[in-house]
Amino acid sequence: MHNQQEVDKRRTFAIISHPDAGKTTITEKLLLFGGAIQQAGEVRARKSSRHATSDWMELEKQRGISVTSSVMKFTYSGCEINLLDTPGHNDFSEDTYRVLTAVDSVLMVIDSVKGVESQTKKLLEVCRLRRTPIMTFMNKLDREGQDPLDLLDDIEKNLHMQTAPVTWPVGMGKRFRGTYHLYTKELTFFDPDAANGTGQVLTATGLDDPLLDELLGSQVDELRHNVELLEGAAHPFDKDAYLAGQQTPVFFGSAINTFGVQQLLDAFVEYAPAPLPRETISRMVSPYEEPFSGFTFKIQANMDPAHRDRIAFFRICSGKFTRGMKVRHVRLGREVQIANATIFMAQDRTNVEEAWPGDIIGIHNHGTIKIGDTFTQGEELKFTGIPSFAPEHFRKVRLLNPMKSKALEKGLVQLAEEGATQVFKPLMGADWVIGAVGLLQFEVVMHRLEFEYGVKVAFEPVSYVTARWVLGEKKEIEEFEKKEVMHLYIDGEGKLTYMAGSQWRLDNTMENWKKLEFHETSEHS
Ligand code: GDP
Repeated sequence: MHNQQEVDKRRTFAIISHPDAGKTTITEKLLLFGGAIQQAGEVRARKSSRHATSDWMELEKQRGISVTSSVMKFTYSGCEINLLDTPGHNDFSEDTYRVLTAVDSVLMVIDSVKGVESQTKKLLEVCRLRRTPIMTFMNKLDREGQDPLDLLDDIEKNLHMQTAPVTWPVGMGKRFRGTYHLYTKELTFFDPDAANGTGQVLTATGLDDPLLDELLGSQVDELRHNVELLEGAAHPFDKDAYLAGQQTPVFFGSAINTFGVQQLLDAFVEYAPAPLPRETISRMVSPYEEPFSGFTFKIQANMDPAHRDRIAFFRICSGKFTRGMKVRHVRLGREVQIANATIFMAQDRTNVEEAWPGDIIGIHNHGTIKIGDTFTQGEELKFTGIPSFAPEHFRKVRLLNPMKSKALEKGLVQLAEEGATQVFKPLMGADWVIGAVGLLQFEVVMHRLEFEYGVKVAFEPVSYVTARWVLGEKKEIEEFEKKEVMHLYIDGEGKLTYMAGSQWRLDNTMENWKKLEFHETSEHS
């Protein structure tokens, strides 16, 4: 097949973690290994300029930066690696979830002091839905953290996944001496004073090697004991279970000291999946197929709000993309030429004019492309699994100038199409409700409504905690609409949505309406 080599050398992934676990630090180290940046600090500098201010116009200016850091491409060990940013902290939004639908695997970073935290748990649920393979990096071993066995237990219990330690730490905090590779039997010695901090690899022929006694002193017994324990108790690494999303291999290290990162990266290029086949409504699409196809997973408003200029982030699923090629925009049933596309690329290759499965391209448009849109070379395909996720925060929208209700509707619907918030119109009553998975999005919507649509609004709290898309037979739905009208809304795509004031309330309603389906996600139509 013509593109086998190009496909097989690609790895497209994202990092999931809780804020402060070390995602930025590890990203930076990966980019350094990949030669995509020259010195540590570049990613952090971008990030802090993005977060240093809450002033909206400043944020506008920084949007250019967030476009370029949305996809970071680097090469390592013959592989072309696409690292997709998952917005976190304040800008946590549906985009964060949806990026996970465009990758083939993820890297989970856990702070060994804190263990599994809430945001990691949420993101992992999306991975589980898709059976995404997950590699784990247990970070900050240079600090006094939790017992490594407890950390594995934490993952098994809270994330419902088998763990398979690949490396094992020797001590931690002040006593951290390095990691022992359970399969290659190599000890990587940690020297915190070493200039590059990458650690010295010392080959110990098994645990009895006198070199270990020499290097580790009294801590060698602890290591021997632990390894013996693990041989009985830990799951051995099983590549198939990893690829099926059932088991996560675990690496220990310290990102800030660049310790353990290369071991992780080496395992990543060896085991992480190349672009996988993708499901459409009608059939599976193999990345090796010759015709080009792919889907949009994220829309970002561009620098000039007056022109409603947007960039659609598009994941290639099959075939080859060349600049200026004609494709079919399936939802619109139209042929379009993609002339104005950004191809994210490794720094050492200029003038790249083509892209392959696993790569992400940014297509400039004026609002014609929506999340979930499929492009092909003629076939009527629709990729599935790029859904909206039930919001967790809600606000009632109060229009301050009643003359502007048309402009408000237009603004709310268009902003919802970009995918950062969702909009709901009540079955009864006049007040729109918007929902988001992250709170910053409300601020963003308020500013953009004012500056781009000339509409001033106020937000009022509303006592909903979650929403579900409701499906069922016509008669049953009509009955439901009568009884629950106060809690029913129509979303931006015309789908019936039930809002619940508490988890208890939701459970209760689902119990009472057993013939209806209540969905936590909704596919874009
Ligand atoms: P993010 O929020 O997940 O992107 O986390 P950052 O990469 O910004 O890291 C959060 C904080 O933890 C920063 O102050 C880092 O310097 C620090 N940090 C990252 N890795 C390590 C590590 O291995 N050891 C220690 N002690 N601190 C680390």
